[in-house]
Amino acid sequence: MIEAQGVSKMYSRGVYALRELTLRVDKGEFVFLTGPSGAGKSTLLRLLLRQDVPSDGKLVVGGRDLAQLTQRQVQAYRRSLGFVFQDFKLLPNKTVLENVSFVPRVLGMADSQQQRRTFQVLKWVGLQHRMNAFPLELSGGEQQRIAIARALVNDPIIILADEPTGNLDPDLSLEIMNLFREINARGTTVMVATHDRELIRRVGRRAVTLDHGHIVEVA
Ligand code: ADP
Repeated sequence: MIEAQGVSKMYSRGVYALRELTLRVDKGEFVFLTGPSGAGKSTLLRLLLRQDVPSDGKLVVGGRDLAQLTQRQVQAYRRSLGFVFQDFKLLPNKTVLENVSFVPRVLGMADSQQQRRTFQVLKWVGLQHRMNAFPLELSGGEQQRIAIARALVNDPIIILADEPTGNLDPDLSLEIMNLFREINARGTTVMVATHDRELIRRVGRRAVTLDHGHIVEVA
């Protein structure tokens, strides 16, 4: 599903955020990306989101070299992904329902289908009863569940998450990870960047450790 072949990313002359990274993630896998701050985790996620392209090497997702996509293909590619951020990135002046249904609406999904899918994912994260609330009326854990619902509404082939539990306490963090586990159990490929080794240990999945842009451990 994801194949990085000698991927390097240089931001400024001679300073590499990623250096000759080679990694393969199969369809349906759940992988953690870990390592200290500055290791290159967000850079890799940014390349996978096709917000940027490698300086060297090749990043292939679903058989396609991301650097070769046209602008139109980039848009279609991004729509096939779900992304979850540390700070949730919900629209504060929109209700939960509007935050989640926004995605299928933009994609031009028929109204009835939009609604059905939105209810379905909200129910799935256990927050259907809060659909008329505004994000700031919810707890941090609830806001992240809404953000996960939003990431799922479009049936992504891959879910990418950057420090999704960075703002949550350990119990809520595990709860959020259990949601990712369930998403993965349904066949979606999941990649989660986190520096939280204890959380990785508790979830017990493959972890790729980066340091200074290199893979230093795969466990
Ligand atoms: P992590 O997510 O593991 O904390 P990052 O991928 O954010 O690591 O950063 C890796 C390295 O790349 C760091 O040294 C960081 O300073 C540098 N870096 C990240 N983004 C940029 C950027 N847009 N411009 C210049 N340097 C950057």
